[in-house]
This record gives sequence, C-alpha cells and structure tokens, in this order.
Amino acid sequence: MEQTEKIYDVIVIGAGPGGMTAALYASRSNLSTLLLERGIPGGEMNNTAEVENYPGFKSILGPELAERMYESTMQFGAEHVYGDVKRIVVDGDYRIIEAGKKSYKTRAVIIATGSYHRKLGVPGEEQYNGRGVSYCAVCDGAFFKGKKLAVVGGGDSAVEEGTYLTQFADVNIVHRRDELRAQKIIQDRAFKNEKVSFTWDSFVEEIKGDGQKVTGVVIKNKNTNEITEKAVDGVFIYVGILPQSDAFRDLGITDEEGWIITNEHMETAIPGIFAIGDVRQKLLRQITTAVGDGGEAGNRAFAYIEDLHDRLAAAEAAAETAD
Ligand SMILES: Cc1cc2nc3c(=O)[nH]c(=O)nc-3n(C[C@H](O)[C@H](O)[C@H](O)COP(=O)(O)OP(=O)(O)OC[C@H]3O[C@@H](n4cnc5c(N)ncnc54)[C@H](O)[C@@H]3O)c2cc1C
Repeated sequence: MEQTEKIYDVIVIGAGPGGMTAALYASRSNLSTLLLERGIPGGEMNNTAEVENYPGFKSILGPELAERMYESTMQFGAEHVYGDVKRIVVDGDYRIIEAGKKSYKTRAVIIATGSYHRKLGVPGEEQYNGRGVSYCAVCDGAFFKGKKLAVVGGGDSAVEEGTYLTQFADVNIVHRRDELRAQKIIQDRAFKNEKVSFTWDSFVEEIKGDGQKVTGVVIKNKNTNEITEKAVDGVFIYVGILPQSDAFRDLGITDEEGWIITNEHMETAIPGIFAIGDVRQKLLRQITTAVGDGGEAGNRAFAYIEDLHDRLAAAEAAAETAD
C-alpha cells in the first residue's frame, strides 16, 4: 500500500452535506484538510428531487444544492480526492486511513459516510434492480412516463418521493400498516394528489418480471392473508436505512446496528476520531442536522489539534530540559 507523504490535520471521509460542512469549517480554520469521497460529492442530496426544508431556499433540487455546497466548501483550500475508505488504523497520535491502494496519515478524522437503503429481500428485487426496481425517484422517475408504479414504505422518503413520481406516473403506495409514518405536511400532500393511491396493511412478497423488466408485484394483506397481483412497470423501495459503517466496526465505536456513537461534540470513544451526519446514532437524519454536525466536528477537530500541538510541544520541551 502506498502511503502519501503529507500529514493532514484532518481527513473527512464522505462528501455529503455533513462531510462538506466539516471540511469547510476545518479548512477555514487553516487546518490542512482532505476530503475523501468514493462517489460524486453531494451524497444523498444527489438522489433527492426537491429540498424544501433547507433554510435559504424555498425549494431547490438536491443535486443543485450539492453543487452549491461543494463550491463553497472548496474555497478555503481543502483538497478533494477519490477514495473508498476500507479501514482506519490508530497509530499513536496519528490516524491512518486506508483507501484502496493508498493510505493517508492524519491527526484527526471525521467520518461522514451516511447511510444506505434497506432492501426488501424478496424474489425479483435483485434480478430487476435497475430494470424497474429503484431506490431513487429523482434518478429513475423520468423512465416511467405514463406508467404505473408501486412505492413501498410509509415514512417521509416513501411518501415524498412517491408524490414526486406522480409527475411521471400513477403511484400506488404499499404500506405494511394502516397509517403513514411520514410528517403530516408530506402525508397531506399525498392524500390530496389524485395520482396517489394506497394499499394498506400489506407487504410486497415478490417482484414479477418478464425476464427483461418489471411487470408486477405480488402483495399480501397481513390481516386477511389475501394475495393479489398488481400490474406495475416499476417498484420504488423506501423501507428504511442502515449505516455505512462496515469499515469502522472493528474500532468499537458503533452500536449493535452499526450506527456510530458520539457525544454532542461529535467525538467518538477514540480521541481524534469524530463522526457526523446520518452514520451517527441519532433521531433526525436530515441535511440540516448533517450540516450542524459538520460545523461542530470541524470546530472540535480544530480544538483537538491545538491541544495536540500544545501537548507535543510540552513533551518536546520536557525532553530538552531532561537532556
Ligand atoms: C430519497 C431521499 C430524499 C431525501 N430528502 C430530504 C429532504 O428533502 N430534506 C432533508 O433535509 N433531507 C432529505 N434526505 C436526507 C438527507 O439526504 C440526508 O440526511 C443527508 O444527505 C445526510 O448527509 P450525510 O453527509 O450524513 O451523508 P450522505 O449524504 O449519505 O453522504 C455520505 C457520503 O459518504 C460517501 N461514502 C460512504 N462510505 C464511504 C467510504 N467508505 N469511503 C468514501 N466515501 C464514502 C458516500 O458516497 C456519500 O457521498 C433525503 C434522503 C433520501 C434518501
């Protein structure tokens, strides 16, 4: 593995809204800052249609907000390189970040790797992924103009993205309960939309296709056990999220499900390792909360490095005196 020579003050892993904000705060504090990202900067914002709850914008497309955040983040000298981080090794006061064939040395690291969509785990889901099965309305919605879609789930993402999809298609939301979990304003919008219908108390048991693309879903009503087959051209799945934290599990900083545990200053149990945004154990996973976490972590990383410098300088002075 090739280790880069430079020693960074801070390495931020993941360039979603949390990671970008952390990099902005760190670089603006004059810390040498590296942003490592394995995809396109923006994280989940790139998969979001419209954002209506980020202050400053009445409404903005997710990818546009991502681009604007990236521009403002990079203005203070942070570096950004591609990297898929597989491991963090603690080496005294240094943290070594392993990403593919390269490793990077840093004093502090901020983990901002977000979360990913839970799968339904039913027959047909893998086979038709990308051929009618999707987890991203903004990416794939336009392929379904004039078609029929099933959206699975009852939370914010399912109902919001389901409503968004009605600009292209008729949408049936299949939910395992008899009421939605989504915020009231999102529910009201869906109930008022004539192109949204609901199948309550039901599970999708199978996604059917013709070998090439999705043709329908098999649905079971949990109260009556009745099985019905509904003809649809696509299935959008929003049934929960899981943390992107496999690379950090051996550090012992996660809970049983893999969410990273921090205090209110975004500090994990390991000094110099911070975690922010959706990957963190917390209640509200939003752009605003990721951004707030990022500001706090960037600021605390600065304080941590100041302390570290003071500690090293004091140790050096003590050693010289002893000589
Ligand atoms: C469909 C949908 C709609 C949403 N709508 C809204 C909304 O309207 N308003 C709102 O406030 N929130 C919304 N959210 C939630 C919001 O997008 C997230 O809460 C927010 O993006 C979390 O930010 P983050 O920085 O923690 O993580 P993410 O945005 O998930 O970014 C994490 C980044 O880390 C990178 N990464 C992961 N692992 C590694 C690794 N090992 N090495 C390198 N890079 C890695 C990923 O590629 C990604 O770019 C929505 C989410 C979804 C899925």
